[in-house]
Amino acid sequence: SGARKRNITVADTTCTYCGVGCRFNLYGKDGEILGTRPADPEQTPANDFSTCVKGKFEYDFVGSDERLTTPLIRKDGEFREASWDEALERIAERLTDIREEYGADSLAVTSSSKATNEENFLAQKFARQVLETPHVDNCTRLCHSSTVAALKQTVGYGAMTNRINEDIAETDCYLITGSNTTESHPVLATRIVQNVRDGADLFVFDPRQMTIADHADQYTRTKPGTDIAWINGMIRHIIEEDLYDEEFVEERTKHFDELRETVDPYTLEMVEDVSGVAPDDLVNAAETIAQSDTCVYGWAMGLTQHSHGTQNALAIANLGLLCGHLGKPRSGFSPFRGQNNVQGGGGDMGPIPNNLPGYQSVTDERVLDAFEEVWGVRPPNQVGLRITEMFSAVPTVGQTVSGGTGTDAYGGDYPESGVGDRGTDDPGAGEGYTPENVDLRGMYIVGENPALSEPDIDHAEEALAALDFLVVQELFMTETAKHADVVLPAASLAEKYGTVTNTERRIQLVRPAVDSPGEARTDAAILQALAGRMGFDWNYESPAEIMDEINELVPIYGGVTHERLEARENGLQWPCWDEDHPGTPYLYENEFHFDDGLARFVPSELPEEDFPGPSEEYPFTLSTGRVLYHWHTGSMTRRSVAAMKQVPESFVSVHPEAAERLGIADDEYVRVESRQGEIVVRATLEETSGPDVLFIPMHFVHGAVNKLTKEEFDPQTKIPAYKVTNVRLEPLGEE
Ligand code: SF4
Repeated sequence: SGARKRNITVADTTCTYCGVGCRFNLYGKDGEILGTRPADPEQTPANDFSTCVKGKFEYDFVGSDERLTTPLIRKDGEFREASWDEALERIAERLTDIREEYGADSLAVTSSSKATNEENFLAQKFARQVLETPHVDNCTRLCHSSTVAALKQTVGYGAMTNRINEDIAETDCYLITGSNTTESHPVLATRIVQNVRDGADLFVFDPRQMTIADHADQYTRTKPGTDIAWINGMIRHIIEEDLYDEEFVEERTKHFDELRETVDPYTLEMVEDVSGVAPDDLVNAAETIAQSDTCVYGWAMGLTQHSHGTQNALAIANLGLLCGHLGKPRSGFSPFRGQNNVQGGGGDMGPIPNNLPGYQSVTDERVLDAFEEVWGVRPPNQVGLRITEMFSAVPTVGQTVSGGTGTDAYGGDYPESGVGDRGTDDPGAGEGYTPENVDLRGMYIVGENPALSEPDIDHAEEALAALDFLVVQELFMTETAKHADVVLPAASLAEKYGTVTNTERRIQLVRPAVDSPGEARTDAAILQALAGRMGFDWNYESPAEIMDEINELVPIYGGVTHERLEARENGLQWPCWDEDHPGTPYLYENEFHFDDGLARFVPSELPEEDFPGPSEEYPFTLSTGRVLYHWHTGSMTRRSVAAMKQVPESFVSVHPEAAERLGIADDEYVRVESRQGEIVVRATLEETSGPDVLFIPMHFVHGAVNKLTKEEFDPQTKIPAYKVTNVRLEPLGEE
């Protein structure tokens, strides 16, 4: 742990918030975080001296009086305090009973991107080895599952290809779409803005004109949900004008002819008609991007959270490949990952229903052999439910999942799966479970808050309440924990040791700055104790020992040991095959991650049917997202004085023209209503979105935006379409 001076602990650690992975010194005393200071810039590859407001001022949630400090058991509808012994015994008994009565596949585990890699490894191990259920998933489902699926099919790894410092911060050109970079990834945005000031070109295509667009050479407002049209339009124009990288396409890719054919209908007129992009804007951006030696393609939830999210990500991947902007420095695909450990804990460590750790398919018998050898139990070889499906599999609640649960146009709905950890040409790998064939009775939720984060939260809450047994392991009594039968107090990231993996695949250490409050324990300690009660002696004496097992079973983490990370403070980027491997700063220098080494164009088309568009009854399109000061469902930042001072409550961002038409004044409470539900929030008048687009942040309980969103999913990954909900807006009037 960190050095102690006058009872102050200084921990050299990695930020608990976003995927940029800033490193700094965290100062703690008596359970409170005193503040942060920059660390040695040699050791802070993502941020140098910078941190944003969240890293600097919003660690006060750690010392909040509201932290859970003792296990709680529900009795006659009320929680009462319990000892760890009693709580763990109750959980072991109930999970065992349910498994005996309904089978192992009546249980599900969800894991957390706020926990370390080691803990996420244990969460999926608990599901697959101890419970023997295939149903394990996490919040990556809600953010970049569509990116992962698209990149597995086109380039091989479902991850950012490049580095923050040497590549993103140094490129000649950016295409950024669907990313509120300045608010969601602030330190990364600063790097981009600095580089743009130094002469790099920046193109922003987005329905919302956010701060990053203020720095752009060209900002283009697009109609929500129409990205495939303008991206395919660019591809068509670049091919037509012969501006693409012919040598790269010839030598390093396949299926170019299919791409050319697919984009043929996307003429300048068609693109303007569908997505509102003026021909001059499209041509200017396409030609500049195609002729740039290097270019970074940056995207986030604005591109991925759609009922055609995978198709969106495929489109941008096709564009980058066409221009040859892969496999070299200062270029590449930069899907900006949200949470500080969503890449590692949420993806690499395999708490996902189709992949064992290291993106190794659950249907690959050779991989299952390797895990069985170490675990003594063969992991289930079927693809389990995704988190968004779990809530429709609780028997008394029933089906509401739309967006197709069977196969789709690609012939299967599990395109993330491949053989070994390679990319996949066979999207239909494995027969999966669906909500129709699962009778979900018990859930074990580690650090997730689906009662606020799921689309249509009324349905999610109904499902949580209807479960026979629910365990929630958390820092606070969240909206989800309120439904639990047993609540376990967990340690925050400021209280533990382990590793996290940032958006650029960089694995870095976290270290404790304070002790956990009361009896709270780390997720790893809790899971190990529970596994012990259920007959599995895991026997890890430290997170480093968990990493030893990861080294053995996860080839891309083969050489990532704690010993190396301790000695080498700027982390290691995967793939890192063995102890002598230096890690991989950027991917695909020599070959793409397929057996033949070639990237694939996978043509993507604008779906016709799932394009509801505004109607007379619901004339606005609502988008959801983040604000700078808050984080996700707010379970941490709503307990931060600093954050609440800045943004104390939810709001709806309304264009002044729309407000005037409806007679709505700035700061006035208004009603927003969709087919799912209605909420009351304050109106903030601003021109960020167009006159028929609204925005509401996702961080609040009062005015919870997911009362309005619908359960409509991308068929391939079941990512929800948070970015397009048709709503109406009205003043409250005299009530
Ligand atoms: Fe933390 Fe992200 Fe802010 Fe860096 S940019 S301090 S990682 S929230």
